[in-house]
Amino acid sequence: MSEPIIIKNGTVVTMNDPGDVLFDGAIVIEADRVTDVGSTADVLARHRLDGARVIDATGKAVLPGLIDLHYHTALGKGWSDHLPLWEYLDTCWYPIIRALDYDAAYWAALASYTESIKCGVTTVNDMYRQLTALADAAEEIGIRAVLSNDVADPEHNLDTLDDNKEAFQAKHGTANGRIEVYVGIEWLPLASEELLRDARRLADELGTGIHIHLNESLTEVENSKQRFGRRPTEVAYDTGILGRNCIAAHCVWLSDTEIALMRETGTQISHNPTSNAKLGNGIARLPEMLRAGINVGIGHDAAECNNSRDLFEVMKFASLMHRASRVDASLQQAGDVLRMATRNGARALGHQTGQLAPGSKADVILVDLQSPMFTPLMPGNAEHLFSHLVFAANGSCVDTTIIDGKIVMEDRQLTTVDEQKVLREANAAFRRVLDRMVVPSSA
Ligand SMILES: [Zn+2]
Repeated sequence: MSEPIIIKNGTVVTMNDPGDVLFDGAIVIEADRVTDVGSTADVLARHRLDGARVIDATGKAVLPGLIDLHYHTALGKGWSDHLPLWEYLDTCWYPIIRALDYDAAYWAALASYTESIKCGVTTVNDMYRQLTALADAAEEIGIRAVLSNDVADPEHNLDTLDDNKEAFQAKHGTANGRIEVYVGIEWLPLASEELLRDARRLADELGTGIHIHLNESLTEVENSKQRFGRRPTEVAYDTGILGRNCIAAHCVWLSDTEIALMRETGTQISHNPTSNAKLGNGIARLPEMLRAGINVGIGHDAAECNNSRDLFEVMKFASLMHRASRVDASLQQAGDVLRMATRNGARALGHQTGQLAPGSKADVILVDLQSPMFTPLMPGNAEHLFSHLVFAANGSCVDTTIIDGKIVMEDRQLTTVDEQKVLREANAAFRRVLDRMVVPSSA
């Protein structure tokens, strides 16, 4: 078993229920758990330093790791960036993921997770293909990963529910429970009602959750009305997809009825404002969702439609988009947005993460406050710190990332993989897949 870790003299942003911020705080990590949180003096009085790894967090903030609630491993960032969603999917995204093999998925996942860890993300909710490769990459690099397949009707030549079941049986619960497998549904335009019902049946049989793209674009809403005679969320409701263990990504064009269905079923929503903006999909009705009491976390979506995996940037979008479109600066205050990226994401996935409290999983990041991003900073003022974290910072402020009690990045260096090798191999994998991919002539 690894030595306990004591992090002392830091500004501990607990994200606990009362929202405590401890300005000369300390935490203790034993195995995969946070076991103590308090003032540095109190914590040091309760714990022996010998035999422990002591990290001096003077000039740093100590936060729970960020949770990226809608994620895809990405191979082809920046390729065909000029296209709208549907055309992009048909000519780029689907051809690329149809040409994936284990190796390409493995290196793409390692490169994706590398950027996320360097931006303070400790959990990814990753829908992609070749889940064995993704699980192997997650196990090696040390990230917490909920993985799901890209399941669609057979004529689309993506994944099947059987592929997803196989991945569940092979990888769910591995790496000390750090890796889980959900049932993934690509989106309604590639699914029949029968497939949706079968997906819910499989998730219930396996005792796992569902990850789906839902109501992302106006074209999807029109497609749903034409094929099913009703709106996407109504179809998801009727087929049993919605529920507390369903993560619905995007939910941009929700009607009042659809918001009520989300609320009634306790469905979790991932808000992905940067992706929605880049692909010209619109602005989700976040204020109405929150007012309805729906749990909403945030996600970057995929590097192909973002193009960064920096969740600090997504937090900023999650505030500014709504303030701009509603002409209302009272919306989405910094502390609330930070809560979406931590507590709400953890709640959506049923994880004991997203806060620093005794008993929570030890997913922790250290943010360097001694930089222009955090200057000036009024000592003892939590609101000032929240403002900087959401509106001023980017992922390069993260100095150390700890996941499941293990230090996976220290002084911005990954401890588990050779970053330069990962980047070289991901570049090579991208070129191999481009050579192999087939773009449909009708597209
Ligand atoms: Zn997505």
